[in-house]
Order: sequence, then C-alpha cells, then structure tokens
Amino acid sequence: MLVGRMREFGTTVFAEMTALAVRTGAINLGQGFPDEDGPAAMLDRAVAAIRGGLNQYPPGPGVPELRQAVADHQKLRYGLAYDPDTEILVTVGATEAITASVLALCEPGAEVIVFEPYYDSYPAAIAMAGATRRAVPLRVDAGRFTFDPAELAAAVTPKTGAIIVNSPHNPTGTVFTPQELAAIAALCREHDLIAITDEVYEHLTYDGVRHTPLATLPGMRERTVTVSSAGKTFSATGWKVGWICATPELITAVQTVKQFLTFTCSAPYQLAVAHALRHELDWVATLRDTLQGKRDRLMTGLAAAGFEVLKPSGTYFVQTDIRPLGHTDGLEFTRRLPELAGVVAIPTQVFYDHQDDARRYVRFAFCKKDEVIDKAVARLRALG
Ligand SMILES: *Cc1c(COP(=O)(O)O)cnc(C)c1O
Repeated sequence: MLVGRMREFGTTVFAEMTALAVRTGAINLGQGFPDEDGPAAMLDRAVAAIRGGLNQYPPGPGVPELRQAVADHQKLRYGLAYDPDTEILVTVGATEAITASVLALCEPGAEVIVFEPYYDSYPAAIAMAGATRRAVPLRVDAGRFTFDPAELAAAVTPKTGAIIVNSPHNPTGTVFTPQELAAIAALCREHDLIAITDEVYEHLTYDGVRHTPLATLPGMRERTVTVSSAGKTFSATGWKVGWICATPELITAVQTVKQFLTFTCSAPYQLAVAHALRHELDWVATLRDTLQGKRDRLMTGLAAAGFEVLKPSGTYFVQTDIRPLGHTDGLEFTRRLPELAGVVAIPTQVFYDHQDDARRYVRFAFCKKDEVIDKAVARLRALG
C-alpha cells in the first residue's frame, strides 16, 4: 500500500528494540527519553492552563508568550535578535519544525546534505519532499566523531538546496567546534545553501563545552532555520513543543506548510514552556550536571564490561565500539544483547547510508535513574 518514496522507512529500530525489551524484560537503554519529570512549576503551569480554560485553538504561529520567551532566550543566551511576531514559529516539536522546513524549502529532486549517522526523521522528511539525501559521514578521530571538510565540500552539487546540521549531535554526542561550524558556514555562503539546524540538545553539553548556534556565524542568520524544542531541555519529550527562529521570508514559507500539517500546537503546553524558558534555566543547569554524572557512571561501567567507550560532549548518548568484546556487527549484537545480558541498546549503523565502518558502534542512553544504569552495567559485566 505504502507509496514508493516511503517504502524504505518501515518499522524503526526503536520500535523493534523497545518491543524486544518488553518481551524479554531487558533494561531499555535504547530509546532516549528521561525517566524523571521536568521542573514541577512547569508541570503546574500546564495543569493550571487547562483548568483555566486555555483549551481552544491558539494562534497558528504560537501563543505570544512563548514566541516572546523564545526571542528573549535567543537574545540573552546567544546574542541573536529575532522579532517574536515575524521571526518565530511554534511547532509540534522539533520533528514537525524540521519536516515542515524541508517540505517548504526543498524542491522535488533537490539534494539535501545530512551528516551520518543521522536522526531518523531527516531521511523521511527529505523523502516526503521528493528530495534526495546526500550523507556525509562522521568518523572517529582523536576520540570523537567529526567530518572531513573536503568530503563535506565534495557533497555539494548544483542540485544541493539545503543542509541539515544537528549539534549537539544525536547519536554520537559530538558538539561541533567553532572551526567545524565555520567550515559548514563557509560552504553555505559559497553555494547559497539554506541550513536547517537541529539544536534540541543546546542546553545539554558537558565538561564546560558550549553550544554555538550556526546562525551566530557571519552571513548565517539570514540563511539559517534554527530549530529547537522543550522536550530534551525540560525532560518533557511527550509534550512536543518546538520552535523555529529564522527571517520573516523563511518563517512565512515554513508556516505555509505547517498550517496544513497541524495548524498549531497544544495551547496549555505552550504556556508552560514559556514559563520554563524564562524561569527554569537553573533547573536545566542542574539537569545538565546530573546528566554529566550519569554519563560518567555509564561510561565507567561500559569500559569495565569491556567496551571501547567514546566520550560524548553532549546529548543523552554514549557510543561504544564492540570489537574488544569479540563482536563486529552492532545490529546482530543488539538483537542478541537482551539474551546475552538483559539490556537493550541501539545499533548505530542503521543511521548511516554507508554502513561499513559503522557496524562496530552501539549506542547506549544514560538519561536514566542511577539504579537503572547500575543494574544495566552489572548485567553487561556478564559479557566479559
Ligand atoms: C529528540 C530529538 C528530536 C525530536 O524532538 P521533538 O521536539 O520531540 O520533536 C529531534 N532531533 C533530535 C536530534 C532529537 O534527539
């Protein structure tokens, strides 16, 4: 039944691995959602908004309070000024923001550059638009995933319309350095490309590493669609409140598509997120420190279990190389891991078009309670 252009997107690996966890009772370190709630005052705001009667369609571009809060956040944190009336659009999570942007800005037949491993919604969004993806690999160099600027430059063709840039990067945990961002920006300026950035982990960076929005680089504000969302920042992945910051021309284009996808996003959650962006960034700083501790806890345990562990500078995820354990194929390994050790993880290779070098990598999530991490680690020791 399914149309041809969507046929490669069957059941996701997350569905497969979560079903495997449920069936076997394994600990799920596969899917990246936190197992603790966001700030209490934010939750109270959502309840109060519902009880207070804010239950009808909000304005299409988003409630004014949230658009203003996003504008203030971008200005205070990054020095980026956006007009909340014409340059900010609230979306149903970052997922809709990215899909609507690709649908609005990429013609059928255009090429869209993505870094691989990629977030799984990008290839699907590109396919929905009738465009084609061009994947540029991130490879491990000096203990972190990075790209070769020459390889990136070689991926640009006369058909290239846009590049999707995710930093902090899921699933590798890489936070692009100012030099890496400068190489991307130079290419965008030279070839007149639109950049769609996915910055959902903007607050979740470790060891003092700071996130830099691509839009802050010279010549980039006018060609960048900056996307973020509340899900990861406020541990509310089920709320699906996201936003876009861009020029009025770009926002108008994306909104033209967005209004027919979902029209608008849930009103009470928008108000709660507006509160959180203004008043809960201290809570987020504590979350970040807590997550850094969880990262270290999981890394130590994985290393003791015999994995080669790559240290992430951001996100919820640790990448491991399984070859020291005598395995070479992550897909095969993760399918057997519940039976071998009672743990579920994600094979990184499924997020690559060019899988060969990637077969060795397996992703574990650390956004879990300490006792869950400890129990998983104790089980994984059995592998050695
Ligand atoms: C979680 C995640 C998203 C989805 O964000 P929503 O706001 O839930 O739609 C998008 N991109 C990346 C890289 C993610 O990890």
